[in-house]
Amino acid sequence: MSLWKTKTFAHGVHPPEAKEDTRGMPIRQFPFAPVLVIPLAIQVGRPSRPTVSEGQEVIRGQRIADPDGFLSIAMHAPASGIVRRIGLAPSISGRMTEAIFIEPFAGSTQEGVLGDACDLEQATPEAIVEAIRSAGIVGLGGAGFPTHAKLRIPEGKSVDTVMINGAECEPYLTADHRVMLEQADDIVRGIRYLLKASGGREAVVAVEANKPDAAAAIRAVLPPELPIRVEVLKVKYPQGAEKMLIESLLGREVPSRGLPLDVGVLCFNAASTAEVGRLLSQGGGLLDRVVTVGGPAVKRKGNYRVPLGTPLRFLLEQVETSDDLATVFLGGPMMGQAVSSLDIPIGKGTTGVIALTGEETARLGGRPEAPCIRCGYCLDACPIFLNPSHLESLAAAGQHQTMAESHHLMDCFECGCCTYVCPSHIPLVQHFRVAKAAVRKAAAT
Ligand code: SF4
Ligand code: SF4
Repeated sequence: MSLWKTKTFAHGVHPPEAKEDTRGMPIRQFPFAPVLVIPLAIQVGRPSRPTVSEGQEVIRGQRIADPDGFLSIAMHAPASGIVRRIGLAPSISGRMTEAIFIEPFAGSTQEGVLGDACDLEQATPEAIVEAIRSAGIVGLGGAGFPTHAKLRIPEGKSVDTVMINGAECEPYLTADHRVMLEQADDIVRGIRYLLKASGGREAVVAVEANKPDAAAAIRAVLPPELPIRVEVLKVKYPQGAEKMLIESLLGREVPSRGLPLDVGVLCFNAASTAEVGRLLSQGGGLLDRVVTVGGPAVKRKGNYRVPLGTPLRFLLEQVETSDDLATVFLGGPMMGQAVSSLDIPIGKGTTGVIALTGEETARLGGRPEAPCIRCGYCLDACPIFLNPSHLESLAAAGQHQTMAESHHLMDCFECGCCTYVCPSHIPLVQHFRVAKAAVRKAAAT
């Protein structure tokens, strides 16, 4: 397909892809750390309730925490071992959160326990949703939103299209690319579960044009009788954002403060879809995930299937880092977050661990900030047509409510395009994150 025909959205940016080091590297299994730290909280909802106690032996795959509320999910032991402690651990949010600390048995075969498989032909939509919840599957593209919760369709809403997001537009990240290449069958099986659970009429797998082999791998295993197609999109950031995907492929606009469901669409990450296909057909919970470990400061870059709960410190020791390591990002450099502690564990939403040198850190944002010169570059970059320059003036004045009520602050999904293009190096997206948090806090009191 020639490039001018590939579908895309308006605005956006073209950061260096930086995927060449890992895109060709097959997924490899990562070893168990001396201690695995399983946080009980995910990004939303109440933390899960532990079902094990300190000193108890657990088997790989055993459920160790039950859901507590609609948005909560089940957790499973990533390794056979002993529960050493249930207590506080650092998290990406910067807060300490409750976690289960498991010490894997040395020399164990690590054979695990499986639950009941979910028969695609026999299962009702409700049974599929419950199986997804029991498996502890969340959005593996970084959002971490529970997959079962997306599938509870409210009264009055319906789904016509299930969108599978294989865009992976963040620089450095190639984990989804490898999953699409190596688990194409799992993805197609996962789509069948998701179509049945949602009542969707068709599914679209969205892949950026820089992954033609992934698009071909999925097309090669698509049964012709299924209403599933693969679409190739122009390479542009943030093509993988749900609203951009829907605009690019279906020409529909998700309303302000709305959800894809408002225009009849549900979006699922490609790796999440693969786990739905794999785990539901065999039974069992999510115990590990594929993570891109890369960046200029990493010596043994690659895509690794990493046990959940692996501390960053152990992971970076295993892949070895250079002496000038300066910053570690969870996720990519555009939407990911720099970590303040290497004791933070790999979680279900960790797409990548990107380690940067001092030079690269400075290039990506460590430059001194200057006043706004009204160039308008940020307006041309924002994919949802906000006015970042004006929002910045309001943020500086502390007018957070005005930003939200009159300037669509809460629609900002923190893609970082405005920050990326700003010649004055103003950390616009960081200021918008703070403003959004202030608005949410005010609304909650
Ligand atoms: S971070 Fe927000 S304001 Fe900036 S470009 Fe992205 S959506 Fe627009
Ligand atoms: S890109 Fe930066 S300098 Fe230019 S208008 Fe936006 S905030 Fe101002």
